[in-house]
Amino acid sequence: RYYLISSFLMLLLTAAAFYLLIRLMKNQELYAQARMSFTSNMTHELQTPISTISVALESIKKYHLIDQPEKLENYLNISRHELQRLQAMIEKVLKQEQMDLGKAKLQFSLFDIQPVLQQVIFAMEVQVREKNTALILLQSDEPYFIKGDAMHISNVCYNLIDNALKYSPSQSKIEVSCSVADHKLTISFKDNGPGINEIYQQQVFERFFRIFNQDNIHNVKGSGLGLHYVKQVVELHGGRADLHSKPGKGSNFMIILPLYEEN
Ligand code: ADP
Repeated sequence: RYYLISSFLMLLLTAAAFYLLIRLMKNQELYAQARMSFTSNMTHELQTPISTISVALESIKKYHLIDQPEKLENYLNISRHELQRLQAMIEKVLKQEQMDLGKAKLQFSLFDIQPVLQQVIFAMEVQVREKNTALILLQSDEPYFIKGDAMHISNVCYNLIDNALKYSPSQSKIEVSCSVADHKLTISFKDNGPGINEIYQQQVFERFFRIFNQDNIHNVKGSGLGLHYVKQVVELHGGRADLHSKPGKGSNFMIILPLYEEN
């Protein structure tokens, strides 16, 4: 009898070990796939501005545009714009890398979140205009103080608004608002874009994860790093990131942070 029980337990343990091993391999396989598509995405994204800049510079030389100030300015403007894009992309990857290595030193201070949101929205004016989108901050008269790293929190808000803009069709509406409940501040970023299927709602916060489908709106370039960065920063502040969404009904990304209250 003892022999039977111990054999059964051994069998159970072996099955459990196999199951865990297969799961681990599956996760690693998924991770390797995600990393590969990240590398090809990034290579593509870096190549595009580099070739645009080289073509612009070659043209300046080939067609002696030094003597044609108007055309010269046009080509220089294109090059400058592409360089800025390149710089922003590289910074995004480096920031993420720092976070992953736990190197990023957060500098905590006490600040009101609303002016931070106003600044982020102000910085996005050109993109908002290009897409003819209504980006609205539902202001409140009272300040909402948090203790955190203003730069990283501002990057988080930027990423969430940037995604709302990227994935929504033009002429849509994005609403940013703050609310307080249970000593916690919720900042909500609501769009009426394509929405996210329930099966992907946790995965979108994973490193490199992107949703691929035939839908044009989702066929936007990206790195799959933005939401992972959001999650990491918010968690380093003792908060969490959340998502309510339904396909075809838009998305509501939320970050929930401890509210600073005196005494
Ligand atoms: P990226 O935008 O660079 O792909 P993110 O980590 O920011 O990376 O987003 C991961 C994925 O989540 C995106 O590829 C996209 O499919 C989906 N996603 C993010 N934000 C939205 C949104 N507001 N509406 C619809 N889909 C979104």
